[in-house]
Amino acid sequence: MTFKDFHLDPGLDEAMFYLGFEKPTAVQQQVIPAISQGDDLIACAQTGTGKTAAFVLPVLNKLANGLPSKTNTLIVVPTRELAIQIEQQIQGLSYFLSVSSIAVYGGGDGKAWEREKAAFKSGVHIIVATPGKLLSHLNMGYMDLTGLEHLILDEADRMLDMGFIDDIKRIITHLPEKRQTLMFSATMAPDIRKLARTVLTNPKEVNLAIAKPASGIDQKVCLVNESQKAEAIGRLLSERKDYKTILIFTSTKSKVNQIIHALKSFRIASRGISSDLPQDKREEVLRQFAARQVNILVATDVLSRGIDVKDINMVINFDIPNDAEDYVHRVGRTARVDAKGEAITFITPRDRRKFYLIEKLIETRIPRLELPSDLGPFPSWEQPESQDKDRHGGRRPSYNDRQRKKRPGRGRRNDNPSGQRRSQGRPPSRG
Ligand code: AMP
Repeated sequence: MTFKDFHLDPGLDEAMFYLGFEKPTAVQQQVIPAISQGDDLIACAQTGTGKTAAFVLPVLNKLANGLPSKTNTLIVVPTRELAIQIEQQIQGLSYFLSVSSIAVYGGGDGKAWEREKAAFKSGVHIIVATPGKLLSHLNMGYMDLTGLEHLILDEADRMLDMGFIDDIKRIITHLPEKRQTLMFSATMAPDIRKLARTVLTNPKEVNLAIAKPASGIDQKVCLVNESQKAEAIGRLLSERKDYKTILIFTSTKSKVNQIIHALKSFRIASRGISSDLPQDKREEVLRQFAARQVNILVATDVLSRGIDVKDINMVINFDIPNDAEDYVHRVGRTARVDAKGEAITFITPRDRRKFYLIEKLIETRIPRLELPSDLGPFPSWEQPESQDKDRHGGRRPSYNDRQRKKRPGRGRRNDNPSGQRRSQGRPPSRG
């Protein structure tokens, strides 16, 4: 199958040429025809599969056939990073069309608010928004969504995890009943199905991701003591000097700086990014990482779904993610769309149970990586959990250690650097 089979507007074909989209991904092959036929849809597809373009292309194609005067499409997403990323893809794909779009997300100053309000009043065609900020605007009464034809809930599982369910239900009360609703989720947990039953009408179902990392990822796991992780990571990175982009994930914000300092002692430069960093600084670091000016980025989970940097060579899980699904999202940052990548996960003996849950979820035995023996002795896979004394690196467990699940903050600052855009952003780059 080729993109030609979808008979898309020539402006979209041209943009895809510049973006280097040669053939539709598996998700796109199934999702684009279903959306084009006007069906409601529930799609189980993980990030990195090309799912954004899968829902953006048919929407843009419809808009290319006649621009409405009112807002046509609302895309609701869990995080500001994802909102920005989706809106950037919309800009790239709609470069040769006259479609307008805006990313709207939490925090922000008065200027951002006014810019968003002006965009809504002008009937901006596509809104990509996080639930809280969108509701704040909706409650002011000036948003006209009576012409809305498409509602897209992206990363629905993440939105439920983050407690946005009531916000989503409230948002839906502001929308026309006759609309096409599309729901994307990395998992098909029972609460996702429940939400689907309430918001979708006779949906088509596309199930491509059984929550498995893409096949191009070379996954490995290392069993270490907490106190050995820094040394081990230094050694692994010293052996991979040719890698241009490496992402290191940690579960807690406090560890981001610890890891950066540990790497410094190996003369390895890295930058950190967590929800503690103001939005403009986060965007700057992400830009530098995308431009390969920063080669190693240390990040918390909040950002694991928002980082869309091509050709990441390696993902290191400095500590095991709290949820097995988060593992899929973290390692999904590498090997995007048919590329190859490496993913190494550190676990301590106490993490083994969590780790086995990951293997169960992805239905794969992750190969064990032997670290150089001079860094050892390492714990044994056979050692009973009760004998582990090193779970917290010899210290008392901290609040963060105990906190099994963090609800990512909805952020402080929010300067949408570009505001509403009418397809006049940067030209799409080839490849
Ligand atoms: P997503 O799963 O939407 O996060 O997309 C992951 C990455 O794949 C993004 O950088 C897209 O630009 C890229 N992409 C989407 N569709 C294609 C395609 N058909 N060919 C090549 N790259 C694609």
